[in-house]
Amino acid sequence: MSFFREEFAAQWPAVRVRFGLGVRYDLVEEIKRLGCRHALILTTPEQAHLADDFAALCGDHAAGTFTRARMHTPVAISEEASAYAREVGADCLVAIGGGSTTGLGKAIALRTDLPQIVVPTTYAGSEATPILGQTNDGVKTTLTDAKVQPEVILYDAELVRSLPVSMTVTSALNAMAHAAEGLYARNRTPLTSLMSVEGLRAFRDALPQVIADPDDLRARAETLYGAWLCGTVLGQVGMALHHKLCHTLGGSFDLPHAETHAVILPHAIAYNAAGARDELRPVAELFGDDEPGMGLHRFARSVTAPTALQDLGLKESDLDRAADLAAKNPYWNPRPVERGAIRRLLQVAWAGGPPVA
Ligand code: NAD
Repeated sequence: MSFFREEFAAQWPAVRVRFGLGVRYDLVEEIKRLGCRHALILTTPEQAHLADDFAALCGDHAAGTFTRARMHTPVAISEEASAYAREVGADCLVAIGGGSTTGLGKAIALRTDLPQIVVPTTYAGSEATPILGQTNDGVKTTLTDAKVQPEVILYDAELVRSLPVSMTVTSALNAMAHAAEGLYARNRTPLTSLMSVEGLRAFRDALPQVIADPDDLRARAETLYGAWLCGTVLGQVGMALHHKLCHTLGGSFDLPHAETHAVILPHAIAYNAAGARDELRPVAELFGDDEPGMGLHRFARSVTAPTALQDLGLKESDLDRAADLAAKNPYWNPRPVERGAIRRLLQVAWAGGPPVA
């Protein structure tokens, strides 16, 4: 069955994407191609050594480094970094890292309109979206704005090689969740569905190879290819139950981002299979089980992903409140979001059992 739909609207941002081992060495060329001369280089504190490497690579084209990107993009840091970008006369941004560093670049772009080059080192996919999540006084809000969509993405597998295996697995499942939910999004297009399937296939094939040999750069590159496809889907279509549940668990119970996605994915997909069986058929086929949630569960176990919310620090006594919050603000989902059924889903996900429909 093709992904043809009788009605759809597709709109594509003008993003330049390059893949290749060592493509980061063309950074100055990419800066000049944007018509820019002075890049502010961004990383987390843990990846500050990369900021130094990239500043050396850029030479006179480096305006400075800012190495305090943090999870959930705190507004205070974004304001400080934006002021620093102005102070050093930066005319573009280079974000090297995962979703946290990309988030900081986007937050600065929102405030300054500077163009962004992103060099991803995880599979989160933020580099391919016009979405920015920010926190202020502990409250996380999300916005979508063309201003925050990065202009250039450089995917260099040599930079993702250092991602520890446990983070490799959870980050990959985080990316796969974008694609799985993209398949039943109301505003999906034939192309986003094609990208979803190809992104899931890339992870299905390459992730086990990366786990067997984390230095396998061809397999690493294929997982980055999956991340690009899945991230692009996230940027183009609306998400549903899976992302809302993860948002609730991360925002209200401070659970870690990628790990939470990894645990919830099979359960959310099993839940939604009842309302989107045809749309999820490619997942069932790719992961070799009539039940798409069960196929994803087996895959997650085979790559030793975390499977239980209790192992991420959630208390059993929190499950009632989590179910209340997840069912409180109504949103579109292929299957109605019923509090009782969500509570059962959370119980199973908490204990780490196989998903139930
Ligand atoms: P992250 O960016 O927070 O990185 C986690 C840690 O791993 C950091 O310390 C980082 O420095 C380190 N790290 C990253 N790459 C590494 C590598 N190759 N080797 C060694 N260490 C490395 O994690 P993430 O999961 O990529 O991003 C999570 C954040 O991104 C969340 O805040 C999430 O909300 C956001 N996000 C946003 C979007 C969007 O479209 N706006 C999409 C996905 C995720």
